[in-house]
Amino acid sequence: MIIVLKHDASDAEKAAIKNVLAGRNFKVNEVKGEESTILAAVGKLAMDIREVAVLPGVANVIPISKPYKLASREFRPENTVVEIPNGRGQIVRVGGSRVVAIAGPCAVESRQQMLDAAAAVAHAGAVMLRGGAYKPRTSPYAFQGLGEEGLQYLKEAGEKYGLPVVTEIVAAENIPVMADYVDVYQVGARNMQNFELLKKLGALGKPVILKRGLSATIEELLMAAEYLLSAGTDKVILCERGIRTYEKATRNTLDLSAIPIMRSMTHLPIIVDPSHAVGIRDKIPPMGLAAIASGADGIIVEVHCHPEKALSDAAQALYPAQFEKLMRDIEALAPVVGKSVAHIRTAQGPVAEKPAGTKKERITCAFSGKKGAYAEQAIDRYFDGSVTAEAVDSFRDLFQAVVDGRADYGMVPIENSLAGSVYQNYDHLSQFEDVSIVGSVTLRIQHALLACNGASLDSIKTVYSHPQALSQCHDFLFAHKDWAQVEAVSTATAAKLVGERQSPENAAIASSVNARLYGLTVLKDGIEDDPRNYTRFVIIAPNHLTGEAAGQAFRQRLGEGTAPNMASFVFSTPNEPGALYECLGIFQQAHLNLSRLESRPIAGKPWRYWFYADAVLDESIGDKESYVRTVLDALRAKTEDVRLLGVYNGS
Ligand code: PEP
Ligand code: MN
Repeated sequence: MIIVLKHDASDAEKAAIKNVLAGRNFKVNEVKGEESTILAAVGKLAMDIREVAVLPGVANVIPISKPYKLASREFRPENTVVEIPNGRGQIVRVGGSRVVAIAGPCAVESRQQMLDAAAAVAHAGAVMLRGGAYKPRTSPYAFQGLGEEGLQYLKEAGEKYGLPVVTEIVAAENIPVMADYVDVYQVGARNMQNFELLKKLGALGKPVILKRGLSATIEELLMAAEYLLSAGTDKVILCERGIRTYEKATRNTLDLSAIPIMRSMTHLPIIVDPSHAVGIRDKIPPMGLAAIASGADGIIVEVHCHPEKALSDAAQALYPAQFEKLMRDIEALAPVVGKSVAHIRTAQGPVAEKPAGTKKERITCAFSGKKGAYAEQAIDRYFDGSVTAEAVDSFRDLFQAVVDGRADYGMVPIENSLAGSVYQNYDHLSQFEDVSIVGSVTLRIQHALLACNGASLDSIKTVYSHPQALSQCHDFLFAHKDWAQVEAVSTATAAKLVGERQSPENAAIASSVNARLYGLTVLKDGIEDDPRNYTRFVIIAPNHLTGEAAGQAFRQRLGEGTAPNMASFVFSTPNEPGALYECLGIFQQAHLNLSRLESRPIAGKPWRYWFYADAVLDESIGDKESYVRTVLDALRAKTEDVRLLGVYNGS
């Protein structure tokens, strides 16, 4: 059973509750959540739950009849995020807002093979390296793996590129040899129900990827996870890798429906192995994409630089180019399902430290609006939970907070795919000279109609929201012409107001995350006219701390991909014929591909304009920052003013 404690439950009350449970032979696990503390009591339900419900300090008791408890959603309503440090101050997070790719060969075959594979998968965007040193082969005559020698090669290759390593454990007796080399243990399909192995592995507390057995049901997989969890670890990642069916066209049948099903049954992260599921090289990338579309937290894929020479699973190993293409497709797909792709810094060298002068423990990122705002989701997406989001009252205050050092970063909406530019923020970028753009992130905007419990589409009379959101839901609102539309400062403000009133006549249009925040229910989700509704945010950082490098340093520390692919700058031209034409000529000569050009009036200079430009920096450009500076130097000769806003990695 799950016992939810009251907010103000004292330590003495908690101890008394645990005592009662222990007296009835329950094993008790305590979980401190953001909003409440939960006790999970595992054992035979040989007592009336009302006996627990009446104890002082207890808010609620939820009986769990399922055979798995610690793995269940009831035990932990929020998703578990498994954190895996890469030894360079960066952390790979599985189960959060970023999808991860784990890649590498089926088996470690030689030192060079591992170094080549690691270079290829790191370059394409993998954040962990796989490779088996102990291979559980169907035939005893097949290659069985290099054992400890293989672990050494795997670890060396992983360290070279900052990739934590994943490798399969086939027997508990290998733990002492493996412990020094392994970041994540993999339990293979054939060992999913090797309960003695699971118990010993769970007790280590290290992250484990648990693969679904060849013929295991979802419930059996969750029971196997329960073995790991009850042995003491909380770092379990489930892996769907195809199950045995009557179909022979593929190696196994990839049960993608297991992803949304398990999502509601468990809080554990779920990844997909399309390689062992499909078994045929060319058919694997589409299923990798389908895995992300179905909500998986990542994929684990077999990649080999020379598949034709691979000692195991040769037919299913992707060529590096195929893997790279798959990663590019995942970059494009992830925002559609509300996620982005995890990257880590693969270049060697010391990790930049936070510049001196900022004393705060936590790194903070300011946004304009209230809790629940889309910008807050963008922060979560970009920084993947590693910074604290701080609400400020206006865009101006946001810029000021970054300049003053009250916030380390700011999340600034800059354009919407339907509504166009947020001009105010273009103006702020030119006015606040002490900030740089250090990154950008694109968020899919999905609006929901929120109202209090008991309200229905028929009871609504007034709908509140930000004017942009109202206009983006024009078709939906047109079908409800009798509703009065009232503008609010932000979508989250509208949700808060409707939450406070609790009247069935009021509704708000905002992101569905506001429902939980403000005590509302979702009457209808996805009510925007066009589902391809995206907002691009830029992330700003101060450049007065240690120059422009400060932004770069922070970004690397947080594990963003290092290769910049965008530059933003502003310039103003003399007021004479052909002035802009001449500037554009400079970009043409330099082969600089502009993706955006906006003009804004210069404050205090009527009829004079700033031009804002975004340029795409392709891979063929070597030192991107100095290339951009050279182009801007040439531009300077033709213009009145030029300012580089940032050279950064953006999406
Ligand atoms: C593997 O990952 O190489 C492997 C043997 O996978 P599975 O256990 O899913 O067959
Ligand atoms: Mn394999």
